[in-house]
Amino acid sequence: FMLLTKKLIEVRNILMSIDHNEALRLPSIVVIGSQSSGKSSVLEAIVGHEFLPKGSNMVTRRPIELTLIHTPKSKEEYGEFPQLGLGKIHDFSHIQQTLRDLNLAVSESECVSNKSIELRIYSPNVPDLTLIDLPGYIQVTNKNQPETLKDKIVELCDQYIREPNIILAVCAADVDLANSEALKASRKVDPLGLRTIGVITKMDLVEPEIGSAILRNTDYPLHLGYIGVVCKPPTNRNNQKNITSALMRHEEQFFRSNYVYSQRGIQVGTGTLRRKLMEVLEESMAKSLFSIVGAVQLELEEARYQFKVQYNDRRITAESYVAETIDSIKHNFKDFAHSFGKPQVRHEVRTMLEQRVLDLCAELYWTDSKIVDLTKASADDLYWQYKLDMSSAALTKSGIGRTSTQLVVDVLMANMEKLASMEPLNNHPDTSSKVLNFSNEILRNKFHTTADQVENCVKPYKYEVECSEQEWADGVKRSIILLEKELESCDKALRHIRNTIGKKKLRAAIKYVLDAEKEEAKRVQARIKDIGEANSEASTHTIPLAALISSVNDVTEEGDVEHTRLHFNPKVLERAREAIFLRDRSMILKYRLAALKSRQCKSPESKQYCPEAFLNMVAEKLTYTAVMFIQVELLNEFFFQFPREVDNRLVYDLDRKQILTFAKENPHIRKHLELQERKRKLEEVMEKLNYLVRRQRDIEGRKGPA
Ligand code: GDP
Repeated sequence: FMLLTKKLIEVRNILMSIDHNEALRLPSIVVIGSQSSGKSSVLEAIVGHEFLPKGSNMVTRRPIELTLIHTPKSKEEYGEFPQLGLGKIHDFSHIQQTLRDLNLAVSESECVSNKSIELRIYSPNVPDLTLIDLPGYIQVTNKNQPETLKDKIVELCDQYIREPNIILAVCAADVDLANSEALKASRKVDPLGLRTIGVITKMDLVEPEIGSAILRNTDYPLHLGYIGVVCKPPTNRNNQKNITSALMRHEEQFFRSNYVYSQRGIQVGTGTLRRKLMEVLEESMAKSLFSIVGAVQLELEEARYQFKVQYNDRRITAESYVAETIDSIKHNFKDFAHSFGKPQVRHEVRTMLEQRVLDLCAELYWTDSKIVDLTKASADDLYWQYKLDMSSAALTKSGIGRTSTQLVVDVLMANMEKLASMEPLNNHPDTSSKVLNFSNEILRNKFHTTADQVENCVKPYKYEVECSEQEWADGVKRSIILLEKELESCDKALRHIRNTIGKKKLRAAIKYVLDAEKEEAKRVQARIKDIGEANSEASTHTIPLAALISSVNDVTEEGDVEHTRLHFNPKVLERAREAIFLRDRSMILKYRLAALKSRQCKSPESKQYCPEAFLNMVAEKLTYTAVMFIQVELLNEFFFQFPREVDNRLVYDLDRKQILTFAKENPHIRKHLELQERKRKLEEVMEKLNYLVRRQRDIEGRKGPA
């Protein structure tokens, strides 16, 4: 007979999971009362279990939305916190502890919060009801509580006692009703008491005459009346499991022992209260039915319209989104793998080694003051032979295995980072970093074998590098290109300095620097001579090096500071020195280019005269060998393993919840899924409501003629 309530409670729970729109609210019973009026005891008597936290320091700080679900076919009794997803809780003391924790999470300074706690209790012993327990009204605040607490509680309760809710005003029999905060609050919103039920607790604490007078309801009449209860369970409870029976026996005994309580028009007992609540709620639900149907219909139409307009009625699932995303990650990776092959690896390694060749040439040849004599040196000149061996060794023994492998790893990781930051991974930061992590892991696992392989295979070049005419010619060609590029950037830098400082000023500054250098050289020379003489006077043959260095430093510093102050600012002088360097370098490069293009460099026999070409030829051989092994050991392995790891690490261990979380990380998908879900739930609700409306019409139709 209470089917409407049962069905509408289901509807209410669905609606609560999609939004908290006021229009979609179905009536609940709101329990209000002063602190210690016996609110918790009444609720526990209705549920039949002790489950509410108790204590003196205000343990109800948040509204508890309690849904009781009558399960006639099952013996099981349990609670559920749908917001927490803890599953079924069969131990009611565990429910009590959880409620305590949730309430105490609201700090003492804040004291109350309007964020409600949802709790559902399933049992064959409970009626279908929705009850909302609110913090008790207080008279005075203690020193730890905020001054405004009293008002905050009133405000919170006011929010809940609005229509269409039913108010359960709990008052203790031993406190004058004139002082009842609960009745005061209810009278403000429901002056006739059409939706207020008065519950008078602690009837055992007052004389029957007084008690019955209160229940007769003459001073503060309520349309739904007052019900007297005794909710204090007897102290010697043996059966802890269900408190109802013991409590009701105790209560029954009490009311039966006083004949006044069996008079007409007097309502007493927890059982009466339960029945009353069910009736009143059912009636109220029936009244709300048509308005809620209208409100849901509107919401549903809106949701359908939006779904059509925004998504063209296209349904998606989180699963299909995950599948698409994974495909697209693999697809992007494949594109990258296609575009990054041997030629690209070769380019990277070659560029690195060419730079090294340039550095070696600059360090060992172009800054050597004898370089101008190189073309004229004899073929068996040990100085140049030794230099060539040294530079070749510097190249081959520089740890090519590690550096080239690392270089390719870096380039690969840079590309993976690009991949991780673009669609679709940009919406999924965790997955994105997972992808980077396992990419890095694969590459790290391959690093040492690759580096070792490369190093082993370049080993012969450390002793001897043979080359064919063709390889030599290539080396010459390559080094000419390189040097021309170097020359170009040298000249460009020089032009830049000239343009920023001005031709004339730069020329003057250069002259000044060169003069100063000459001057210094002279002074140093003189000083050395002085010291030499002084020392020989003191009959020592060697010049103490430290003395020499410090005296030379003295001269240089003094000179610099003095002249700088006179003419140029130090920045200009700095640029002038740079310009001198670039001019010299440019000259040497031109000279070396001429040599490389001359007959002297035509054959590999004259490698001594053309170190740039020789080193480039070596670099090319190293590049070729390194790339071959990097390709096989690192690149191919990486391209093969990556898609497999995507499956292993991103897909296989995902459960339904994770799939949903993943999909919702993408804001577009989230909106799409949410609207779809909303539409689905509203449709489900609408179906249930339509059934109830038909049923209600039938009932009324049957009632009508009678
Ligand atoms: P709340 O603060 O309004 O939730 O009040 P409680 O339910 O915690 O009750 C306050 C105190 O009153 C507790 O010590 C209860 O045991 C006691 N109490 C509750 N109902 C009754 C009753 O019907 N009779 C008697 N004698 N004591 C009661």
